[in-house]
Amino acid sequence: MTSSSLPTTLDQLPPACDDIQFNYCKTVACANFSRTEPQLYVLQNSNLQRPVLICRECGAFPPVLSNHDVVAEKQRLKLEQYSGLAACSNNDCPHNGLPVLTYRQYYHAFGFSGERQRYRCKACHHTFVDPWSSSNNKHQLQQKLLAYLFTGYTVREICRRLTMNPKTFYDQLNKIAARCRRQLTIFDARLSKQSLARQLATDLTPLQPQSNNGVLWIATAEVNSGYVMSQHVNYQTQPVTTSVTHHDAYQLGTRFITPHNNQTSNYTPILSQGLLAHIDTTYRQILARKNMENPLSGNVTINYPTKGCLIRPQYTVYSHFLYLRELLNPNIPTLTVFMPQETLLRSACLSVFIDRINNHTIDPLYVVEDQQWQHGQHAEKIDIVLMGWWRDRWAFSRNNSGSKGICHLGGNKKDQQHWLTIASHRAATTYQQRFYDQFNHMVNEPRRKLRPASLLPLLDIYRAWHNLCHQNKAGITPAQTLGLMSSPMTLEQLLQ
Ligand SMILES: [Zn+2]
Ligand SMILES: [Zn+2]
Repeated sequence: MTSSSLPTTLDQLPPACDDIQFNYCKTVACANFSRTEPQLYVLQNSNLQRPVLICRECGAFPPVLSNHDVVAEKQRLKLEQYSGLAACSNNDCPHNGLPVLTYRQYYHAFGFSGERQRYRCKACHHTFVDPWSSSNNKHQLQQKLLAYLFTGYTVREICRRLTMNPKTFYDQLNKIAARCRRQLTIFDARLSKQSLARQLATDLTPLQPQSNNGVLWIATAEVNSGYVMSQHVNYQTQPVTTSVTHHDAYQLGTRFITPHNNQTSNYTPILSQGLLAHIDTTYRQILARKNMENPLSGNVTINYPTKGCLIRPQYTVYSHFLYLRELLNPNIPTLTVFMPQETLLRSACLSVFIDRINNHTIDPLYVVEDQQWQHGQHAEKIDIVLMGWWRDRWAFSRNNSGSKGICHLGGNKKDQQHWLTIASHRAATTYQQRFYDQFNHMVNEPRRKLRPASLLPLLDIYRAWHNLCHQNKAGITPAQTLGLMSSPMTLEQLLQ
């Protein structure tokens, strides 16, 4: 179909999937906020590059999204988290892929196979063994490998020291990552039993900052402990056959980006300037994107990875929040989410937690601060400025050392003082920064620039180490701070 034969207006929203309909006005103060009747909107498709909903009430123009592809992407994230764990492997069974570790009620213990525990699925009667129920005979080797990796040795040096070839190295790395996912699944499940108020920090950053390979990395951490609850990337190692050139929310499989090299030469980095000007520039850059909720549709260069497939970031980010919503105990009285100024994070967080927005049990906030701003200091004088196309209400504070701005995205105008003092997404940001520092040789190695797949096992290992083993100055791990474990885990215990 050519662009001239396409209708310029559509009469239906992209169809809902699993009760999810994310296409609606996202202006919290608008009468149409969260309403999904198509007649409330003009559905414009005249510009193939920018199909949008236009709200008849407030004029906002949120990009449209395929609900089906969000759900499919969330399924992908879930299967990756559970991959390698003991679970029903029957594709036609409703328990397929759901691990015994967290879904014990779906399975019966069913004797042993050698020293390994056997299970039977209650739904389809399929039986399987738990590969992790016997002792790890590569334990010593894996411990050495990890120790070298965390001390900054390159893959080549580690292979030489352990007399192994690179293939064996990556095989072992993948086995370690699967063990780490298993440990994390146990502690994440404990976390989801807690029903205390939660404060979270989210950040979104390139996985390999010097490669421009289009792979973005989103991480969300609990603010006070630093425990990283989940992290995802918009990249999968399996290729796909169904990618579409232009994003079309009415087509299945639209989340996959077609392999291409997208070079733009007029990239201008943000210059250091005042906080207010910085926020204003960011709003302009977001408005200039072809799709406001896709950071890769702006003025960016993409050098497409040599293998695997990129996913439009909005699908991974919406799914990341869906994943979090499932992980959090639904009885949590209040939820707070601190994030950098990014329309995609705002839209995804508001859309997924729409019920909490409507009953005022969530505080989503943009936080922008100088390097010099000292966290926790009292905000003395507060200035209110309405910013961006949306006239977002920002509160600013400045003192001798630096400045900070916050914007409550749920429309709450109170407690500015309080938020200026406590709001910060540093828990997520420093976690990501430490990853770059810790694995600098792997993240930035020139030969790896278009091969992000080799970093994926490292992400699981790093999250496990960070949550369960890494101690703060007081000798306490993030998991201990949350009361999920009583003492730090050693690398040896992590690999058992
Ligand atoms: Zn509206
Ligand atoms: Zn089954």
